[in-house]
Amino acid sequence: MADAHAFPFTFACRRSGNCCAIPGGIVRVTGAEADAIAAHLGLSPRAFASRYLQPDGERLKDGLGTRCVFLQDGAKAGCGIYPVRPAKCRQWPFWPEVLTDPALRELVERTCPGVAPRTERG
Ligand code: SF4
Repeated sequence: MADAHAFPFTFACRRSGNCCAIPGGIVRVTGAEADAIAAHLGLSPRAFASRYLQPDGERLKDGLGTRCVFLQDGAKAGCGIYPVRPAKCRQWPFWPEVLTDPALRELVERTCPGVAPRTERG
C-alpha cells in the first residue's frame, strides 16, 4: 500500500458511500478475495461467483445504477462485506495511480467528502 503521507490530501471517511458508486467504476477481486468473501457470506465459491461476480470472474457485479452490489444505504453508508472487502477498497483513496494521473486525482477529490487538501501540519 502506498504511503498516505506521499499524497497531497488527507482522508477521514465520512461514510458517504460515494467511492462505492463511481460511474464507470469497477471493483476488482482476486481469487483469494473472492474465496474470503464467499466464506464470509457462507456461500460456496461457485455460488458466490454465480451471484456476485461478472462472467470474467475478476469483478463484482454492479448493484443498482453505478453502485457496488455490496453498498448498503443509511444515514451512514456501509459496506456489506466490510471485514473482507477487496484490497482496492481498503486502500481508497491512497491508490498509487492517483499520484501519477491528474484526472484520477481530480475525480477522487471531487467524489469523496472525506478527502481534504493536506496542510503544512496535516
Ligand atoms: S466491496 Fe464494499 S467497500 Fe468495496 S466498493 Fe463495494 S461496498 Fe464499497
